[in-house]
Amino acid sequence: DVLSRMDAVEGDVGAYLLETREGALAQADAVDAKRAAGEKIPFLAGIPGAVKDNICTIGVRTTAASKILENFVPPYDATVMTKLHAEDAVILGKTNLDEFAMGGSTENSAFQPTHNPWDTARVPGGSSGGSAAAVASGTAIWALGSDTGGSIRQPASFCGIVGLKPTYGRVSRYGLMAYASSLDQIGPLTRDVTDAAHLLNVIAGHDPMDSTASRANVPDYTQALRADVKGLKIGLPKEYFIDGMDQEVEASVRKAIADMEAMGAEVREISLPHTDYAVSTYYLIAPAEAATNLERYDGVSYGVRVDGEDLVDMMTRTRTEKFGAEVKRRILIGNYALSAGYYDAYYLKALKVRTLIQQDFMRAFEEVDVIMTPTAPTPAYKIGEMTSPLQMYLQDISTVPLNLAGLPGISVPCGFTAAGLPIGLQIIGRPLAEETILRAAYAYE
Ligand code: GLN
Repeated sequence: DVLSRMDAVEGDVGAYLLETREGALAQADAVDAKRAAGEKIPFLAGIPGAVKDNICTIGVRTTAASKILENFVPPYDATVMTKLHAEDAVILGKTNLDEFAMGGSTENSAFQPTHNPWDTARVPGGSSGGSAAAVASGTAIWALGSDTGGSIRQPASFCGIVGLKPTYGRVSRYGLMAYASSLDQIGPLTRDVTDAAHLLNVIAGHDPMDSTASRANVPDYTQALRADVKGLKIGLPKEYFIDGMDQEVEASVRKAIADMEAMGAEVREISLPHTDYAVSTYYLIAPAEAATNLERYDGVSYGVRVDGEDLVDMMTRTRTEKFGAEVKRRILIGNYALSAGYYDAYYLKALKVRTLIQQDFMRAFEEVDVIMTPTAPTPAYKIGEMTSPLQMYLQDISTVPLNLAGLPGISVPCGFTAAGLPIGLQIIGRPLAEETILRAAYAYE
């Protein structure tokens, strides 16, 4: 069971910031009692999972892996938690992340690194690295993550599991600690595609508490799981298969696509000409929104306070001492891009390029049903290996365009390197076409 698995491996993996075993056992007992009383049991009932620690859980400490929220116990549940509780899901704990979800390796956690279960000298990816490592190491059957620029898909790819970023607005963000509000989405990390569909069934849907949540009907995503890709038109964007990409990654991804072609899919090359600008655009828009969202951590409203001589000194000390280096870097970049005199040159320009990136996809989707790419240009790298922030940002080339365009994407395992590291295939769909990408992923898997 997952608890003995936790005892055996969690010390080496470090996926969890907080284990809630007692609560989990009580939840499991409640399910048993229902069953004994002959009551109907919801589908997810009793199945233990884990939740990224930037998703608010009532009465359970939620830190975003930041010292500034070290003592924060939310007085409310995120909407996804309310929905999971209505399904009698069992929650094993809160998982590690890059501080405020800023990063791609989980090394930016203020509390601990998480290790990749396939090779503990390597990162699990990020920022949902704790969630991915928990599922991959068997200490959770499912997990929730958040994805602003790849944080569900890339760790899924590094850890050899399935990660789904829904369409922007498909899942309520209420109770997700905001990083970049126009990009953030919550989604599932699971062992296989079927579990991802089940979890999406539970968490998707409109929410009066999130004005950006879509009112579109939620289908039963498991109905989409037919092992059939006959006639499915797959686009391969030439801008994503670039020099410098790891050879083994490229070979695995091309092999996966050839396998789908053999199953009856039609493959053609397409072009998404503004791809080159996606990383720069993302690293202006995301920090700009982050700078605004993180203003609320002022030592007054939430979390930790460091006393000072007066109000301004208190706020300055709190933020100086309690935010980590990467968070500060982004607040500075964001405020710079938003400041008078630079706003037009940076932020406004980035918004315009964002529209061009969206239009690239919309044009491509007139021709094809799905677009396939590697999820990440490399397999999991060594802890400490990425020394410059820029080098790290460039890793996000395949994942950030979807967030900028609001599109759904899934990462599904498509093989291993010779050294035994997992590789992920990314499947991108039209807005609200989660069923199509789930079907393609299921057929391949
Ligand atoms: N690696 C990206 C960043 O650092 C994506 C993070 C995310 O999706 N939360 O912003």
